[in-house]
Amino acid sequence: MNNQDLLNIAAEFGSPVYVYDAEKIESQYNRLTYAFNQVDSLKINYAVKALSNISVLKLFKKLGAGLDTVSIQEVKLGLKAGFDPSKIIYTPNGVSLEEIEEATTLGVQINIDNLSILEQFGTRHPKIPVCIRINPHVMAGGNSNISVGHIDSKFGISIHQIPHLLRIIENTGMHINGIHMHTGSDILDIEVFLYASEILFETAKHFPDLDFIDFGSGFKVPYKPGDIETNIEELGEKLSERFNGFCKEYGRDLTLAFEPGKFLVSEAGKFVAKVNVIKQTTSTVFAGIDSGFNHLIRPMLYGSQHEIKNISNPDGKERFYSVVGYICETDTFATNKRIPEIKEGDLLSFNNAGAYCFSMASNYNSRYRPAEVLWYNGEAHLIRERETFEDLTRHQIELEFNHSKKELSDEN
Ligand SMILES: *Cc1c(COP(=O)(O)O)cnc(C)c1O
Repeated sequence: MNNQDLLNIAAEFGSPVYVYDAEKIESQYNRLTYAFNQVDSLKINYAVKALSNISVLKLFKKLGAGLDTVSIQEVKLGLKAGFDPSKIIYTPNGVSLEEIEEATTLGVQINIDNLSILEQFGTRHPKIPVCIRINPHVMAGGNSNISVGHIDSKFGISIHQIPHLLRIIENTGMHINGIHMHTGSDILDIEVFLYASEILFETAKHFPDLDFIDFGSGFKVPYKPGDIETNIEELGEKLSERFNGFCKEYGRDLTLAFEPGKFLVSEAGKFVAKVNVIKQTTSTVFAGIDSGFNHLIRPMLYGSQHEIKNISNPDGKERFYSVVGYICETDTFATNKRIPEIKEGDLLSFNNAGAYCFSMASNYNSRYRPAEVLWYNGEAHLIRERETFEDLTRHQIELEFNHSKKELSDEN
């Protein structure tokens, strides 16, 4: 998928538009499975929340992946995409017992991350196998910025609560078939990950009937050439060896599971937007695009720095620009970035627009959410239409205020 392909897609489907490269998704998936090819039973459950378009889910189904879901609605999207319930794990945080019970009726693997719900669930459904989410409280020290499942995190059952956890399991007679951790951060240092894994192995010994251990995700991907990323190959080699060793100790073969979102789809996505206006102030040149944080919130929410290319003039002389959106408050994608000279009407492409971009888009400022396109087998396929005015008004109920108060009450 090159610049010209992106320009053609914007010409055909308009801007702004999200474009996902199926080949890149597939190569990331294959890279991960290959890194763990020494493990007999490996399960990659794609984290739906990163990018939940049904056609993308179907692509993952074709690749042989399972799904990691965090809401009942994501479970339903997965089922609609044709996944067997046994391929879906449901890993919510802070949801009601009712929602978890609804998920069991759909037949998916339940993962519970707090003792209160675990006890209630186990009391009512002792026969349904449950995975438990453990918080290993691993902190990376020094100047590395990863903090993994810190002590005050709302996620997971603290390893300090294992005695209480075991009491609940004994009292309810429930069956724990998996243990899970998800650290949630961009993991740079695989030693930290391996250390957290040791805690998971230690914990696993308390549960004699496990089928799988789920190591979550949090792999860091590069945002620009030369960026540090999680060394998946090294992690694969080290963790596989340790995992296989643990299975021997444990006395039976377990499945090793992961649930990456960002790693699988981040780099596959491009966001293409058009420059509406160039505005020069005394100190800055602004390029204002036909989009804003309503469509791509990561720079404003997380400070993420997406690479921006001028695909209309890729070889132009570089100048410094601040790229801003049209939302009526601070809405900055990049400050003083070197970009080939931009003219009004040029198309810019943002990298790393696959994960947590469209899925976090909103209608703020009453704008339409963009179209989504999947680039598959050298062709562009529209997988979501741009919204229309109808979409903005669809669920609104209009009151009429042309009666006097008295007439209104007379009618009643
Ligand atoms: C968000 C999430 C993931 C995916 O995380 P990435 O950093 O995108 O790989 C996996 N598992 C759970 C439980 C999550 O909440």
